[in-house]
Amino acid sequence: MSKRTKANKYVYLFGNKKADGDGSMKPLLGGKGANLAEMTRIGLPVPPGFTLTTEVCTYYYQNKRTYPKALEADVEAGVAFLENILGKEFSDMEKPLLVSVRSGARDSMPGMMDTILNLGLNDQTVQALTRLSRNERFAWDCYRRFVQMYGDVVMGVQKRPSEDHDPFEVVIHALKHERHHADIEDTKLTADDLKELLNRFKALIKERTGKEFPQDPWKQLWGAIGAVFGSWMNDRAIVYRRKYNIPSEWGTAVNVQAMVYGNTGDKSGSGVAFTRDPATGEKVFYGEFLTNAQGEDVVAGIRTPLPVAKLKEAMPHAYDELENIRRILERHFKDVQDFEFTIEDGEVFMLQTRNGKRTGLAAVRFAVEMEKEKLIDWKTAIRRVPADQLDQLLAPIFDRQAVKAAKCIARGLPAGPGAATGRMYLNAERAVEAAHKGEKVLLVRNETSPEDLRGMIAAEGILTAKGGVSSHAALVARQMGKVCVCGAAALDIDYRSKTIKVDGQVYSEGDFISINGTAGEVYPGEIKTAASEIVQVLVEKSLDPKESETCQNFKKLMDWCSKVTRLQVRTNADTPEQTANAVAFGATGIGLCRTEHMFFAGNRIDAMREMILAEKTEDRKKALAKLLPYQKEDFIGIFKELKGLPATIRFLDPPLHEFLPQEDAAQQDLAKKMGVPVEKIKQRVNELHEFNPMLGFRGCRLGLVFPEISEMQSRAVFEAAAEVQKQGIKVKPEVMIPLVGFKRELDLQVEVVHRVAQEVMKEKGVKLNYLVGTMIEVPRGALTADEIAQTAEFFSFGTNDLTQTCLGMSRDDSGSFLPPYQELEIIKRNPFATIDQTGVGQLMKMAVEKGQSTRPDIKLGICGEHGGDPDSVKFCHRIGLTYVSCSPFRVPVARLAAAQAALEEEAAKKAKKK
Ligand code: PEP
Ligand code: MG
Repeated sequence: MSKRTKANKYVYLFGNKKADGDGSMKPLLGGKGANLAEMTRIGLPVPPGFTLTTEVCTYYYQNKRTYPKALEADVEAGVAFLENILGKEFSDMEKPLLVSVRSGARDSMPGMMDTILNLGLNDQTVQALTRLSRNERFAWDCYRRFVQMYGDVVMGVQKRPSEDHDPFEVVIHALKHERHHADIEDTKLTADDLKELLNRFKALIKERTGKEFPQDPWKQLWGAIGAVFGSWMNDRAIVYRRKYNIPSEWGTAVNVQAMVYGNTGDKSGSGVAFTRDPATGEKVFYGEFLTNAQGEDVVAGIRTPLPVAKLKEAMPHAYDELENIRRILERHFKDVQDFEFTIEDGEVFMLQTRNGKRTGLAAVRFAVEMEKEKLIDWKTAIRRVPADQLDQLLAPIFDRQAVKAAKCIARGLPAGPGAATGRMYLNAERAVEAAHKGEKVLLVRNETSPEDLRGMIAAEGILTAKGGVSSHAALVARQMGKVCVCGAAALDIDYRSKTIKVDGQVYSEGDFISINGTAGEVYPGEIKTAASEIVQVLVEKSLDPKESETCQNFKKLMDWCSKVTRLQVRTNADTPEQTANAVAFGATGIGLCRTEHMFFAGNRIDAMREMILAEKTEDRKKALAKLLPYQKEDFIGIFKELKGLPATIRFLDPPLHEFLPQEDAAQQDLAKKMGVPVEKIKQRVNELHEFNPMLGFRGCRLGLVFPEISEMQSRAVFEAAAEVQKQGIKVKPEVMIPLVGFKRELDLQVEVVHRVAQEVMKEKGVKLNYLVGTMIEVPRGALTADEIAQTAEFFSFGTNDLTQTCLGMSRDDSGSFLPPYQELEIIKRNPFATIDQTGVGQLMKMAVEKGQSTRPDIKLGICGEHGGDPDSVKFCHRIGLTYVSCSPFRVPVARLAAAQAALEEEAAKKAKKK
């Protein structure tokens, strides 16, 4: 093992059951490197190798793509280490050392960066490999693959914009036709064919680059290392990082490892397996393999692999060994593993293991079942499920009746569960374009590659004709939570005519098709989707919970969350139905009821418009009197659903012109209905026009200028509360005044609320418990929160407006500049989706501290969109809020994030004590 101190150690060795690193060192060694070290330590059969750290990558980019001085000697020592263990040598004519060079970031980025295999082969060592393997074809096939990969990845011989096909593939295609007059499989190429291919590949490289393919293994190695570090900044890696919020500063490690061969014959093969099913979560050995193939063939989707169960017949000894490894991996890593293996002449080698990507469905099942098996405890189970993924469990499935009536035209592998329907596109760019126009699209390809990433993001679902459950399409779809069917071999896809043919029937691009990623089925046309099982049990109550294992698992997870959570989760709901849904998901009240939404239903808008158009207070009061019963009725419905849970009801907030018709025809119509000349309407619409409505006559400004509006709303709240309370149902109204920046704004509105409350209580002869508070959504509100808290009994952060006003970025117009801002890395994440903790977050912290300095027990919440975003929820926990509020279907996500936040705090406290 190498002895250098950690500070300047750039290369970590692993081999012979010993390793410099271990599984905890992912930031430094990358996920692959750290786990190769860990597997070596626990005695699994890992070919020896060494890892160049992510610090080298950082250095490389900070120093104009150069390496630290000590690296050269370290890499030489690494190669010497391998040579020693294996008794082989670079360039040796008897026993040449051959290695793979692979990337390995902290978090896996499947297929995004480059890999080089069979490095060390050249015109001489290929002869040695022929002798050693006693298989000339095999040796030349390895060399052919190496030159092809090296030419592509290191020397840049790739498809030009004007070309349709990869240039190496063109050469192979031509040779097959010249010598065999057919599109034979690569495995059918003879040693002689391969030798000729090599000549042509070398000529191609020379022609395209002006350089010779390097024969010296050291030159090859440094070229490969540079290419892998270089691929950290390739376009697809950048797109991937942006989508998954992986910081570019992390960098990648590079792993150099002795080669083992899955392509030496019928007793060899390569595969990818999961210790449990990553799509459904079922505890079965899951995966696939190809005989006589290298690992890359399995993921490339070119040949369709066989399920791993078939290995039992083909190579029983290797299968038993893998079953054993599967058990060891789960017991050791205590999580579901996704691993790559190679079988060389019957002997199993492990090339990688990592925590398996999983669908939301599988994540919940893994967590709950592993707790039952005592592999993990319930707190770990909570941490295991990515909060965002819970969304997938609530995603729709096909409507049972509709799918019964449809005819399945093709079957493939169920690679990403759920139901998706959309217009099919056979090319990623066109899919993106159509999605931008608002179409629902399905991306249909023979197989996908990282170039298709943007199209996959835009699509509702992905369908491929080739490839297996660990193909690129399947891996990426699963992680994105996309519906995916892979390897639907019956599809005959013709990119040129933009059609697919199935069973004699032709479907054209733009036609609707539907896929079931849980069953692996393809249907023509658009099929209605239905709610998920959880929604059927909890919301629609149309399914018995005993019938749904998914729902039972979900409930168990949510119950665990409740045991540990400090931060409550409320909901943003404006109707009794939304309220009922949220309560079914475990919401502990309403954090925001936007009362203006109630005025858009049915003919309520007419009374609202009358109110806005009124010129005299008297007329306005008359119109408001018409609105009162509507508003009251809604509140009654909501209070009844809440059964004593609190309801934060916000008074009218948006600029008034939002309620008026802007189009001529609609204005004519309104004039007729109201019996006023259309000019009057036009004039009022003009009067209400604002240059900057978001910063204009809105929020509490409305209630301050027209107190009768707040009066009516107060009356509706308290009359409804009195009525429901009289029916024996508890009510807890919390009246909330929006857009407050001055204490006096709140004082004046609170006066109205209290006065009306007193009146109603007297009239109805009831005593009502209620609170009056404010939104903190403009910076002045946050800066003067200590003053405002003298009046406000609670704060709720309106982070939509607080972000808008703190950043000076319009929440409605930021779409045009936020994407380039993200690309330029000015902002890492959309601040309207995830709280900008260093900016907006500081205002929130300050408001919390100032509010509590005046009123120590002040109730603190958040009701902006951020209330359903896991990272923002965790931030809210850390700054000590009482609750977050989010849309009904995000409630489970927020509950899980809140529980995870509590566990993170617990862990941090423990670490501090130590
Ligand atoms: C907010 O500003 O965050 C908020 C919840 O209010 P609205 O989105 O209705 O302006
Ligand atoms: Mg607001």
